[in-house]
Amino acid sequence: METKKHDLIVIGSGPGGYVAAVRAAQLGMDVACVERHERLGGTCLNVGCIPSKALLEASERYHEAASGGLGAFGVVLDGAGLDLGAMMGRKEKIVENLTKGVAFLFKKNKISRYRGAAALAGGTTVRVDGDDPVELEAGRVLIASGSRATTIPGVELDGEIVGSSTAALSWAEVPRRLVVIGAGVIGLELGSVWKRLGSEVTVVEYMDRVLPEMDAEISKTAHRLLKRQKIKFHLGARVTGTKVEGGGCAVEVDGMDPIIADRVLVATGRAPRTEGLGLAEAGVELTEKGRVRVNGDFETTAKGVYAIGDVIGGAMLAHKASEEGVACVERFAGLPGHMDHGVIPSVVYTSPEIASVGRTERALAGEGVGYTSGSFSFKPNGRAMAHGLNDGLVKVLADEATGEILGVHMIGPWVSEIIGQAAVAMQKRMTAAELAAVCTAHPSLSEALKEAALAAGGKAIHG
Ligand code: FAD
Ligand code: NAD
Repeated sequence: METKKHDLIVIGSGPGGYVAAVRAAQLGMDVACVERHERLGGTCLNVGCIPSKALLEASERYHEAASGGLGAFGVVLDGAGLDLGAMMGRKEKIVENLTKGVAFLFKKNKISRYRGAAALAGGTTVRVDGDDPVELEAGRVLIASGSRATTIPGVELDGEIVGSSTAALSWAEVPRRLVVIGAGVIGLELGSVWKRLGSEVTVVEYMDRVLPEMDAEISKTAHRLLKRQKIKFHLGARVTGTKVEGGGCAVEVDGMDPIIADRVLVATGRAPRTEGLGLAEAGVELTEKGRVRVNGDFETTAKGVYAIGDVIGGAMLAHKASEEGVACVERFAGLPGHMDHGVIPSVVYTSPEIASVGRTERALAGEGVGYTSGSFSFKPNGRAMAHGLNDGLVKVLADEATGEILGVHMIGPWVSEIIGQAAVAMQKRMTAAELAAVCTAHPSLSEALKEAALAAGGKAIHG
């Protein structure tokens, strides 16, 4: 078998791997990236962030037109039709463009791309099994193998009736009755897509609230607003199994009658992709949760082998994977490689959107940190009124003693675009008063953040 030499071998071309590869090449390293799929971009570009956002946007447009929602703006439509094939085609085109963009970046940065399944083969040697098997040698290996969909005991993913997010991003017909297992990010985003397209959607969640990891007030507001969209919820309800019969499925739930569905979306979390990489043989240890164990510099327990992204601990988010990738390879080059795991924004792209960065009230209380809380509603915000989307609020949590911002949580129109300001403020360790002192354009949705920051330090002007 042929052996090729490089400075760095990256396993996986998701937002962790491809961004790390590009940054390493920019820093002068000779980089190889191994990806088993033909298309680059990993989960995020192919079956995650991007296709889900394409469908969220398209389904929102359809729903607005079909439900007469534009009537309030004085726009009168005589009904609306759904061309699901065209909607899916648009999503595919966006995915294709972006994955081609990654291929272009690889070419531009002279990154050698290998197609096949990579496995560690002693030290920092990697074997690639594919159409053209090859052995790669490098000073360092970076594992960015990501994560995969999982299921729960008693529920088998059949790709037909009972599917993961990947299946639910490509259904050819709108299911009449959809049961979503799990009210986490995927459940609420893809549940929203199919609800808007006409499904009766029932979400079954084990915990007593939706988005259990989020700020309690935000998750309560999300629950109320999603119920208003006629998504049904069973909270504090554990799914114990599914029985597929005659083109449908009975979803069994502890203490309840089974729920009958035409399709089931299993959205109960994802698992790190650690199989087939030869980790145990190479001395790469896993944590109790099955993630690759790394130190503060992303090095695994095997010398010269590093890991980033979904396969290691922390939030399973694309931008977290990318930041880790950049920090990791910058450190290879002797640079500081900045990474602050305390300032990673997270967004749920439902309508309205939900966004947060930093710690929740529950986390602060658990750590015994004294804090002040300032909230501001989108109700009196002029821009939100103009959008016709003025449900929601922004909450700023600040250290009681120093005023430093410790967490920002929001639900409302386009908050995915506002949370970045909160992240900048937190990264720069600003106080709520300093954030409140930033002159903010009027009318804009960001004014709600300024007012919440004012409220955290004393009083909002319009509160
Ligand atoms: P991945 O993107 O999973 O990439 C890993 C790559 O490694 C894959 O291409 C895989 O084929 C390859 N690979 C694995 N093992 C091998 C091997 N042995 N040999 C060769 N190649 C291998 N995150 C957000 O931040 N925002 C969102 O809006 C968002 N939406 C999402 C929606 C859905 C439906 C899903 C499922 C996820 C979403 N995520 C979102 C999460 C996001 O996709 C992940 O956090 C991100 O993709 C992780 O990046 P990664 O590089 O660590 O791994
Ligand atoms: P999740 O962890 O967000 O939610 C899973 C939910 O399923 C939890 O609320 C859990 O309590 C519930 N659950 C588990 N077992 C259950 C059972 N037996 N019965 C009923 N409910 C049960 O996981 P997810 O939604 O699958 O998402 C996976 C990952 O993908 C997340 O880590 C997320 O960060 C990432 N993602 C991010 C975005 C985004 O950033 N917008 C979008 C999609 C996915």
